[in-house]
Amino acid sequence: MTKVMKFGGTSVGDAEAFRRTAAILAHYHPEEPVVAVVSAMSGITNLLLACGAAAVAGDSEAVETARALILAPHRRALTELIPAGERRRRTSAALGSLVDEAARLLYSVYVLRELSPRARDRLVSFGERMSSAILAAYLNEIDVASVQVEADRVIVTDGEFGNASPQLEETRYRAREVLEPALAEGMLPVLTGFFGATREGLTATLGRGGSDFSASILGNALAASEIWIWTDVDGVMTADPRIVPEARTLAAISYSEATELAYFGAKVIHPKTMYPAEERHIPIWIKNTFAPEATGTRISAESEDGYSAKAIASISGLAVVTVEGRGLIDVSSITTRIFSAVGRTAANVYMISQASSQHSVSFIVDGVDRVTVLAALAEEFREDLRHQRVLSLSDDQDVAILAVVGAGMIGTPGVAGRVFGTMGNEKINVVAIAQGSSELNISFVVKESDVSAAVRALHRVFVAGD
Ligand code: ADP
Ligand code: ASP
Ligand code: MG
Repeated sequence: MTKVMKFGGTSVGDAEAFRRTAAILAHYHPEEPVVAVVSAMSGITNLLLACGAAAVAGDSEAVETARALILAPHRRALTELIPAGERRRRTSAALGSLVDEAARLLYSVYVLRELSPRARDRLVSFGERMSSAILAAYLNEIDVASVQVEADRVIVTDGEFGNASPQLEETRYRAREVLEPALAEGMLPVLTGFFGATREGLTATLGRGGSDFSASILGNALAASEIWIWTDVDGVMTADPRIVPEARTLAAISYSEATELAYFGAKVIHPKTMYPAEERHIPIWIKNTFAPEATGTRISAESEDGYSAKAIASISGLAVVTVEGRGLIDVSSITTRIFSAVGRTAANVYMISQASSQHSVSFIVDGVDRVTVLAALAEEFREDLRHQRVLSLSDDQDVAILAVVGAGMIGTPGVAGRVFGTMGNEKINVVAIAQGSSELNISFVVKESDVSAAVRALHRVFVAGD
């Protein structure tokens, strides 16, 4: 049975990281067939996006700057990994043509001053195309027979550029067609993470951080025995280690717990990763490329029990939007109108909260979507505002969502009381509480400036104290 192993941006961040990644693959590959999935080298996706933004804004230097900035780290890594010879020449030429293609795309963006979601998806895909070319070449250099596979040939998606969903049935068919012959010959396919393509062959990305999702889509398609996500921490931890240095690694969590944690900001795994794996009962392991001997976290149907709350997650950079007014007595129709107006924008709604007086409905969106969302609401409620059925549309910037997650909270009385008691003791104001928190999590909103203190306090009370 095949294992799918995904390596994140830091695991291919420089020549040394490529070496570690290749050593891991070389170690596991002889035992059972392995399919590798790689992210772009760290920083490259953001760089491509920044170049796209500069080109669309009419920066005439954007194209040449991009070519130089993107090519340099890839060439540097390649030179260290394969200093000379025919393979080096071929790979270097391949990197050159990929950058040329990205530059041509940027040039049209610059000329047209237009960057559609479809064009942006094509542009950002070059990071993974380049990193996978280097890894496949280096594996061959160390005698691990390998082939680079661009995922537009394998992962079939819908046409929602920037946030595409996989068509699992068709992907299964393509995976059999493209990957199984290579696996049968003992080759190690190195796939690009982050994107697939529509049926017409247009590159479509799966969302930021989507290479984890790519790995589980491929795991599902190949009925893999396990999916391993190699990153720069030992596993899923009880909190983001950048906020809580004493956070510890969890040995095992359930698919649902991992999904909740990821959805509420635990960047270590993309929230959509779990469902294709769960559908075929495939366990996911989170492992550290830089400490491969550490056990890691197992994500499966079973969870480590004994904790009422297992981990704390948070998302920063959000805004609360509030619609308020007497007319909101008929809440159901207003709510429908609010969310169909918001649905016409590209904004993601993280959480909804309705004041008990029923005179207001608040919801949380990304800070960057705030202006578009307010404009869509102003349009929808123009007449209601004029007749004062809706009194105001307001917003509150710089807020964050916090979530306390753990299956053990189901049936443990008083957890919510302890959560809010902890916030009270810390003198942290709770801006809003979610209406539909699942039993797996309690989520609420605080000011951005309070988020670190809130996460640390909750970690102390719920996790470290357990
Ligand atoms: P990769 O590039 O390998 O996909 P990411 O940067 O996307 O890696 O995710 C790993 C990072 O997620 C860690 O370095 C850590 O800072 C962050 N992180 C946030 N919350 C958690 C958590 N609960 N457990 C582990 N890591 C977390
Ligand atoms: N390179 C992509 C990103 O930065 C995908 C990933 O790393 O998972 O979003
Ligand atoms: Mg990631």
